Amino acid sequence: MAKINCIGILTSGGDAPGMNAAIRAVTRSAIYNGLEVKGIMRGYRGLIYDEIEPFKTNSVSNIIQQGGTILKTARSKEFQTAEGRQIAYEALQREGIDALVVIGGDGSLTGARIFAQEFNYPIVGLPGTIDNDLQGTDLTIGYDTALNTIMQAVDKIRDTASSHERLFFIEVMGRECGFLALNGAIASGAEAAIIPEMMLQQDQLADLISNGFRKSKNSSLVLVTEGDITGGAMAMAERVKIEYPQYDVRVTILGHVQRGGSPTANDRILASRMGAAAIDALLDGQRNVMIGIQNDEIVYVPFSKAIKKNKPVQQDLLNTLKVLSI
Ligand code: ATP
Repeated sequence: MAKINCIGILTSGGDAPGMNAAIRAVTRSAIYNGLEVKGIMRGYRGLIYDEIEPFKTNSVSNIIQQGGTILKTARSKEFQTAEGRQIAYEALQREGIDALVVIGGDGSLTGARIFAQEFNYPIVGLPGTIDNDLQGTDLTIGYDTALNTIMQAVDKIRDTASSHERLFFIEVMGRECGFLALNGAIASGAEAAIIPEMMLQQDQLADLISNGFRKSKNSSLVLVTEGDITGGAMAMAERVKIEYPQYDVRVTILGHVQRGGSPTANDRILASRMGAAAIDALLDGQRNVMIGIQNDEIVYVPFSKAIKKNKPVQQDLLNTLKVLSI
């Protein structure tokens, strides 16, 4: 196995709070271990267009508290082609970068997996996404901050919902994954969460209505995961207007507010631990794994497992929400 002297680091896909803390941790622990570090701008795009710069300890000063990513992020169509990846590989050779740390979501880690296999190139991934949709890790970097943002927003919407005695559908991010909606609902004391994982099993809206959600309350908050599977909050509200016109219904789409802001202490600590673990993993000879956390222990998750769809939702979360919203 070739010795690693220089690592490259990039952030890719959607930004997530805590990515900067991860960049800082990777950079500092690489330097601590005697490695050279290069920052690659705008994800895989930066490899193709040679946007690469040397990183020193102070390149990552004062960023642990900042949302977003100082490396910027982008979506690169070219990297999805064999020609694009060849150009990226040549850039890495030219720059003397022996291994990569990729911080991003399932798309970014899918790209990493393909690239690593094609060129037999060492890559370690960090789960950077607010959606918490990667397998093999209890948490992803950015999820806790987004959850706190959702909780604070729902607390505010509750004031209007209860004053006007309304039913609110609040749309949150997550695409195929209901963690933000489900835990956001538990944290904010909402009545229900309509999540993709439960779409096939039951008609969540009909259940909610038939359980008589206004029996003991004069307002209701329902969190809905965005995307095609649930249809989103607008579609829910339209259905209520037609099927249950007695309800005064409103919609709030939280949108990109969920992706921004200063990371929580938990996200900063998670990102710092995972960033340091990425360097330990590379120096340990680990290849093509994502750093995960399970039961508060760092684990290595093969890319093929990490990017598998349909991360299971714990049944106890569903039960807790149901029991506490009577
Ligand atoms: P988020 O979960 O926040 O959306 P993500 O990492 O899943 O983040 P994507 O837009 O899906 O975001 O992927 C980011 C980038 O990863 C893509 O723009 C592309 O460059 C690369 N990528 C994704 N899928 C592939 C693939 N099949 N082959 C090669 N590269 C890919």
